[in-house]
Amino acid sequence: MAGFNEQLGRDLDEIRGAGLWRELREIASAQSTRIKLGGREFINFSSNDYLGLAAHPALTQAAQEALDRFGTGSGASRLICGSLQPHHELEAALAKWQSTEAALVFSTGFAAVQGVLTSLLGQGDVIILDKKAHASMIDAAKLSGATLRIFHHNNLGNLEKLLQWAAGQGGRVLVATESVFSMDGDRAPLAGIVELKERYGAWLMLDEAHAFGLYGPLGQGLAAADGLAGRIEIRMGTLGKAVGAAGGFICGSRQLVDLLVNRARSFIFSTAPSPAVSAAARAGVELIQGAEGESLRGQLWQRVEELMRGIESLGWKTPVEPSAILPLIIGAEEKALAAMEQLRETGLFIPAIRHPTVSRNEARLRVTLSSSHTGADVRALLDALGQAR
Ligand SMILES: *Cc1c(COP(=O)(O)O)cnc(C)c1O
Repeated sequence: MAGFNEQLGRDLDEIRGAGLWRELREIASAQSTRIKLGGREFINFSSNDYLGLAAHPALTQAAQEALDRFGTGSGASRLICGSLQPHHELEAALAKWQSTEAALVFSTGFAAVQGVLTSLLGQGDVIILDKKAHASMIDAAKLSGATLRIFHHNNLGNLEKLLQWAAGQGGRVLVATESVFSMDGDRAPLAGIVELKERYGAWLMLDEAHAFGLYGPLGQGLAAADGLAGRIEIRMGTLGKAVGAAGGFICGSRQLVDLLVNRARSFIFSTAPSPAVSAAARAGVELIQGAEGESLRGQLWQRVEELMRGIESLGWKTPVEPSAILPLIIGAEEKALAAMEQLRETGLFIPAIRHPTVSRNEARLRVTLSSSHTGADVRALLDALGQAR
């Protein structure tokens, strides 16, 4: 039997051999459209900080005030003695923003998804996921013990077939999908999904990680923009993307939140988020709903428009609907890595996204835009892409 590190070394060789090696890069600056890496400055096109709030003075000030009053640590899980004022204030602000009875904050979005699926479903129940659903939903579905079924990406006909089958199984049925997909930036056909889940008596969990803050009145997300929010049982979001802090949340009925507090193991057995982070998130949620949020969204959509037009004229396929995520599909893993390196030499930081985050041979450069990008930033990106082609 080979030693521990030798065995792991073989696993690592396999990963390298498949062109799937990943490593951490130390960023020596705040999260922004400019980042410092290895002593050099890059224009950053890889962050989910869509509204530039991650280092916004209103959020850092809110965090600083909370630090002064509540310190750094929350001390325990929420149910023991860690349920601090900033957590409650954040949850009230989230429920108000989303016009739901209640909201519950988790340490991460990943933990929020896990908490929901494992609390609501178990053996004898069915969870139906979109093929491109985030890893957090796949893992949570498996952990729940429910039967897992996958429908073709955004395919209502295939979803209906699975709903028909699931309705005969005798247990609860839940459909879960994303409103804006994290790796493609495309949208779920929400009206169709809502109609189907209602027709077959199923529940819907909608992951709005890449939509909250960006779409709809007050940045309430895509379901709200489509007038469907009130018909969706469970909506989930993160506090670490457009909101500019960290954490995840669920919004919905009082009963939903009460059940999660009583059952969600990723909530119950986990230390509460740092009060400073929750205070920052609350400031982000308030800012998103105000005049500044509206103007930041306007700037973001202007940059998206410029980039989409430019990409199209370079001959890349562009998404049908605008989103802050623009995938440039390259195909082979090595080619995507080479393109990433080439762009990096010109001072642009864009990640190559590979298997298992996306399917094999669908490796891509995933460009994300922020309201903090300038028109000149977008032109620099288009110039570099033009030369790379
Ligand atoms: C980022 C993300 C999550 C997880 O949220 P975190 O707060 O980062 O843990 C869940 N779903 C989707 C679609 C995401 O993009």
